[in-house]
Amino acid sequence: MINPFLIALTMCHIKTKFWREDDQKRQYKKNLHYVYGISRIPTQMEAIMTVELEEDKKIDKFLDDVALTELHTHLGFAISPTMLWEIAHDQGILLPTKDYWEFVEMITIQDSKSYEEYLKMYDWTEKIQSSPEALFLGIQNVVSGAFRKSNIHTIEIRFNPILRNRSKEKDLDHLIVFALQGMERAMLKYPVKAGIILMMDRRFTKKQNEVILNKSIKYKNRGVIGIDLAGPVELNEHSRSFKPRDIADLIQEAKNHDLGVTIHTGEATGSEEMWEVIEELQPDRIGHGIASVNDEKLLKHLAETKIVLETCPISNLNTKLVKDYDELRHIYSTFNKYNIPYTINTDGPEMQLISLRKVFMTLYKEKILSAENLIKANDIAKNASFIKNA
Ligand SMILES: [Zn+2]
Repeated sequence: MINPFLIALTMCHIKTKFWREDDQKRQYKKNLHYVYGISRIPTQMEAIMTVELEEDKKIDKFLDDVALTELHTHLGFAISPTMLWEIAHDQGILLPTKDYWEFVEMITIQDSKSYEEYLKMYDWTEKIQSSPEALFLGIQNVVSGAFRKSNIHTIEIRFNPILRNRSKEKDLDHLIVFALQGMERAMLKYPVKAGIILMMDRRFTKKQNEVILNKSIKYKNRGVIGIDLAGPVELNEHSRSFKPRDIADLIQEAKNHDLGVTIHTGEATGSEEMWEVIEELQPDRIGHGIASVNDEKLLKHLAETKIVLETCPISNLNTKLVKDYDELRHIYSTFNKYNIPYTINTDGPEMQLISLRKVFMTLYKEKILSAENLIKANDIAKNASFIKNA
């Protein structure tokens, strides 16, 4: 005869099992919410984000106690949506939506976008960050997030002050000083070494880019560590006709003042432009540089000159500049074959809905890079940092 007590016990056991699984799922969702600040998971990132927590713990075990270094993160894409929402409201900025979740969708990458569409997302984040107070608070949020989510101990944060001056309404010195002071304050709270890179832009006139250079020199001993060139390539006539050699004298001046030089190239532009950048500007580092993968002569040259590539793999997938994991696997195996010094970066974690640690884990899990490759890339980043004694 079947014992009713045993049946009740078994039912109870099954129920508890399901509850536990449900609970784990709920906990997992809660973690996603906590880590990424969102409740709706965009399909684009599903593959990365639905990895079970338990599995995650096993996968990135090799990263435990590893202090990470991030060299390539844009302030425009690194402040959490929550903080941007708060700053926007504190400053009374009229947003296109009154719904927080719609706002999050507006400033994070929900589906892969074209490179130019992707850059347009900066318009809102830059607008919200366009005051001394916003930069003071925002930069603290970036350093804190980097430390908490990825155990980042060295971080270089880049931004363009002219794109945050509300058409000359705000004073550039105030913007830069408040950002530097926010960074200093964050370093009091977390064991992180941070530095700021000021960015020139392809859309700018020579005069505007010269202003950026002069500010970099002025604040060199106060936390500005280097200079960069970025901006859309196809946006307008000016950006289309821009040539890296146009700013060669500015870059030389930056070097004369011992500033680090990194240049965005070989991301949306081809290897010809990378050659021009290397020959005319001789940067210490290159932002992205993945276009070199099909140019053997360039690969050999990069290995010889030891110019460090700041690769941003998940960002390249999101902007469709890299098709899929297979193409990513090909890029990194080529870099390994030619002994190219590369580093791993987010390009801006909050907008990409990722953390640096998750980028490392994804590359490892998808067998794009080994644990040794990843640890080596992190060591290269630390050595290539423009922060003195990083
Ligand atoms: Zn970038």
